[in-house]
Amino acid sequence: MRIVLMGPPGAGKGTQAPRLAEKINASHVSTGDMLRAEVAARTRLGLMAKKFMDAGDLVPDQVMIDMIAARMANDDDNAHPSIILDGFPRTVSQAEALDDALQATGGAIDAAIMLDVERGELVRRLAGRATCANCKTPYHLTFSPPSKDGACDNCGGELVRRPDDQPEAVRNRLRVYDEQTAPVLEYYRAKNKLTVIDGAGAPDDVFKLLLSSVRS
Ligand SMILES: [Zn+2]
Repeated sequence: MRIVLMGPPGAGKGTQAPRLAEKINASHVSTGDMLRAEVAARTRLGLMAKKFMDAGDLVPDQVMIDMIAARMANDDDNAHPSIILDGFPRTVSQAEALDDALQATGGAIDAAIMLDVERGELVRRLAGRATCANCKTPYHLTFSPPSKDGACDNCGGELVRRPDDQPEAVRNRLRVYDEQTAPVLEYYRAKNKLTVIDGAGAPDDVFKLLLSSVRS
């Protein structure tokens, strides 16, 4: 099964995708994590991508398509029967390129699932996100704060904000989502592959909805 998990920034993809992957024994392919790893390793791709990401803009289509094609080619070797794509495709041309690449191997996307969360809630969620610079544990300064201000509960590391969670970048990410990614929903809707689920609830409740939509 090949699933595309969609939703605006802050909808909870990063929380739900790994959990779903573990539950259904799928490979979790997060293009955001892949890009951040490239940035951290200061690869040529990472250095090029960083300036787009920090501003809240999308990394160019061809770069993303090449990266995901390489990742999915590798995935054929491993034991996971399913794949969850998280953060890709983000434009209609990426969605078309993905379909073309899968078609060439006799495959297809089986389902696109959108986590739907209203705009005010997205902004509240994104504004409070912070991550341990050391062990990468995620926190939310309002919903799941560390017990000591600014320090990780696990390791005492410093809590940092992603550059793309700064207010100006958040506004830009939401605008980019509306202009470039929202049309991808219509792309999958037209193919009868889109399911929209309510992403506003507690993570456990959203996960139940997600799981039942995958199993239906
Ligand atoms: Zn830590």
